[in-house]
Amino acid sequence: MRKHNFNAGPSVLPVEALESTSKAVLDFNGSGMSIMEISHRSKDFEAVMNETVSLFKELLSIPEGYSVLFLGGGASMQFCMVPFNLLEKKAAYLNTGTWAGKALKEAKTIGDAIEVASSKDANFNYIPKNYSIPADADYFHITTNNTIFGTEIKTDINSPVPLIADMSSDIMSRPMDVSKYGLIYGGAQKNVGPAGVAFVIVKNDLLGKVSRKIPSILDYKVQIENDSMYNTPPVVSIYTMCQTLKWLKNLGGLSAINKKNVEKASLLYNEIDRNRLFKGTAVVEDRSIMNACFIMNDEYKDLEDEFMNFTKTKGIVGIKGHRSVGGFRASIYNALPRESVVALVDAMKDFEKSK
Ligand SMILES: *Cc1c(COP(=O)(O)O)cnc(C)c1O
Repeated sequence: MRKHNFNAGPSVLPVEALESTSKAVLDFNGSGMSIMEISHRSKDFEAVMNETVSLFKELLSIPEGYSVLFLGGGASMQFCMVPFNLLEKKAAYLNTGTWAGKALKEAKTIGDAIEVASSKDANFNYIPKNYSIPADADYFHITTNNTIFGTEIKTDINSPVPLIADMSSDIMSRPMDVSKYGLIYGGAQKNVGPAGVAFVIVKNDLLGKVSRKIPSILDYKVQIENDSMYNTPPVVSIYTMCQTLKWLKNLGGLSAINKKNVEKASLLYNEIDRNRLFKGTAVVEDRSIMNACFIMNDEYKDLEDEFMNFTKTKGIVGIKGHRSVGGFRASIYNALPRESVVALVDAMKDFEKSK
């Protein structure tokens, strides 16, 4: 029996992707070898790499002039690769949570990076509005989905300077306009695959403009010239990501998954709002469709552990909130079935009745 897996990352994957990966781990394409045992430069793996790039381009309708890279080092390595490649005079950052803060911290080690606005004053429970982006910045960096605090920038915003987005936890959750961004990156392990690989979508004409020397492995141009194979890429992670994207395409792509995601999120938020034991932590208009954060109302605070244990008996795992928010966090990524959300909502209802 599969659990109702609400883990924040690494997180639930489509069963189809797990099944095809397990087959490829034993015998890849009838080659008599595991996908772990073949050269990353073999024709068979090259085909996987090309297919994964094509699926990214197709699903996200990526326009001409952009490159798609699959690299090691996770989203955290992009926190430093972005300023290394793009920061010359000054960079601007929107501080919407832990990951946004870490991105800013790394940029500051490389050059002049400023915080344009922050929601730290309210423990990051909202997305700042009414800030202005300096027109002389090399780029403006946002974190579209704040995995820990459950807030999300749900539209493609306008920026007078190249827009850079960490989309680790909401890439492929909705149709989007890639042309509004200069660079998009993220770790695959939230919404598109297993840990070990980060995706980067970069507009080619932004590159080659900084005066500093860039170590080859951190240089987007070198990675593009080498088709993400400057060194050995995370072969198995890319394979599973490919299978996950195929599953997504068969389902009808981003509009289809977005419908499902919005429906799952409203099911859960409706219950959080209705149930007298619980309340949401993020302001309603900025609530994430990927990570729902909620706590127990003050008078029921001491029931937290009991509720957690109750949900465990229903096969529900991964709903403990991040320590900086407390309470609960249900990550309801693309691959989480609607039935799992229904199971959590039912558990919340049953628990309320028992109190
Ligand atoms: C998880 C996460 C990261 C960190 O990803 P790694 O791949 O572990 O470096 C960065 N940003 C966001 C928004 C995340 O959710």
